Amino acid sequence: MNRLSKKLTIAFFIVSFISMGIMVLLARGIFNIMLSFYFPGEFMMNMMMTPSTGVSAERFIQALNISYILAGLVSIVISFLSGYLVVLFITRPIRELSKAAERIANGDLSERVRVKTDDEIGKLAISFNTMAASLEQTEQNRKAFHADIVHELRNPLTVARCRLEAMLDGIVSPSKQELESINNELLLLTRLITDLRDISLAANGQLKLQQQETKFPTFMIRIVEETKILANEKGILLTCSVDPAIPKLKVDRERVSQVMHNLLSNAIRHTPGGGRIVVEVKNDREQGVVVSVQDTGTGISEAELDKIFERFYRVDPSRSRSSGGSGLGLAIVKQLIQLHDGKVWAESQPGKGSKFSFSIPVKQ
Ligand code: ADP
Repeated sequence: MNRLSKKLTIAFFIVSFISMGIMVLLARGIFNIMLSFYFPGEFMMNMMMTPSTGVSAERFIQALNISYILAGLVSIVISFLSGYLVVLFITRPIRELSKAAERIANGDLSERVRVKTDDEIGKLAISFNTMAASLEQTEQNRKAFHADIVHELRNPLTVARCRLEAMLDGIVSPSKQELESINNELLLLTRLITDLRDISLAANGQLKLQQQETKFPTFMIRIVEETKILANEKGILLTCSVDPAIPKLKVDRERVSQVMHNLLSNAIRHTPGGGRIVVEVKNDREQGVVVSVQDTGTGISEAELDKIFERFYRVDPSRSRSSGGSGLGLAIVKQLIQLHDGKVWAESQPGKGSKFSFSIPVKQ
């Protein structure tokens, strides 16, 4: 018998023992009162005075007392046994839950318990199953994330090593072009490691923002101006429209420019030459300051839109990787904006373009 069952059974036993004892004592008292009520005075006197009837009256009361005590003892035994069965029945789901919890603690995250009732224990079982499912999902995500990290880090390393080995073996000459491509792989590796560090710091709540009061319109115009060179190189027209009435905002400038850099470099990467990118910064009464980056690029299908903010998710893995995409850019954007208590979202029409927006609340 486990400890809870033992405690409940002993509790049942004590309660039934006390109630039986009280019943016997009360019954004796009540019986005497009833006797004098129904047979006032003379009955008891007559009974006691007449030796023969006095003896039988005394024995009658004695027999009655013994019957009470025996009935009390039998009912204690019966209530103890039925109490024990009830305890076993009540504690069975708790025992199942406890075994399932032990199996989960030993690493079997697929463990679930059957929900048989809709009482408190049934609700506990539902919560337990929800918790187990979420643990299993988190574990799967963790494994997938680790596998992705290994894969992503190995890729540029392998490419750079192969090129270096080819040079060492004299298969290719160490030309400027070769060295440049090795440098690009190393740059990609560096970016990946920085992105990974940011992601894990943010996920653990250790990414601290250095928020400063910022004149947001001028700040945004400067970021867009800095990116114009990249857009112009590809023949893309990058314009910016900023509502001058935007109030001062408390933001981490470095992190917000990282967000803008990710969104703008994505837009440039996915927009063909001759296309257009428009950055709009406006005030929204409910959401605060809303920034959007709209392009006339390839666009994203509805099904993909839900997933692009996930870590390592790429719509076209091979194309993204070859153009330097790590699949972490939007995941970082999401986390950095969330750290500013803001929201980020995307709208898109495949073939026509995409619009990525984020909001930062204005705090008084
Ligand atoms: P990456 O570093 O590979 O670009 P991101 O997390 O920044 O990773 O983006 C995830 C995916 O979302 C990309 O693989 C890309 O296919 C898609 N994407 C992001 N921005 C755009 C955009 N402006 N236009 C079209 N697709 C985009």
